[in-house]
Amino acid sequence: MPAAFPNRPGAQSREDRRPAANPWKYDLRELGRRAGAMQELDRTAPAPAGWGLELIRVPEKAEVHLRLRLESVMEGVLVTGDLDVPVVGSCARCLEPIEDTLSLDVQELYAYAGSTTEATSEEDEVRRLEGDFLDLEPLARDTIVLSLPLSPVCSEDCAGLCVDCGQRIDDLPADHTHEVTDPRWAALADRFASSPGTPGESTTPEEN
Ligand SMILES: [Zn+2]
Ligand SMILES: [Zn+2]
Repeated sequence: MPAAFPNRPGAQSREDRRPAANPWKYDLRELGRRAGAMQELDRTAPAPAGWGLELIRVPEKAEVHLRLRLESVMEGVLVTGDLDVPVVGSCARCLEPIEDTLSLDVQELYAYAGSTTEATSEEDEVRRLEGDFLDLEPLARDTIVLSLPLSPVCSEDCAGLCVDCGQRIDDLPADHTHEVTDPRWAALADRFASSPGTPGESTTPEEN
């Protein structure tokens, strides 16, 4: 109902004067450019949409907890510390829902405009500082998304699903079996059992 909320130019410009209200943005003026100056940062920031892979993702607006140390160095600002981020997904083996919190280390140098580092590195190698604010969101996104597993598992020893009935093996009794009634499968099993020492025909389960 936009009519009930007429445009208030004052509200917008007030927000412009206080960009530090965005918890992903750090005001570099708090740190200053004197080498050795240091600031500790302990804050939470909401995850934007789209941080994830096929089977695991960070829920939109989930709280990312940042514990960072920002240190002024000759070439720029060194950011070190760690972050905690909640993730949800499903097990690649048994499809069971997964909920977890990842704790990840962060270490990144942001180069000042005009520094030797800026002049001797590519922009995709070393992050740049532009203006008064350091945007921590791209750093958090890269750190988090690059650490997400392609094949997340509900537990390291998850046995997956029974190939015959599709039930979760970990939920089934240890003696769960199915009668092998098709003689073609029995013949195939015999052939594999009688080919000793052939590479590539190991009966060890595939593991990535
Ligand atoms: Zn599983
Ligand atoms: Zn089964």
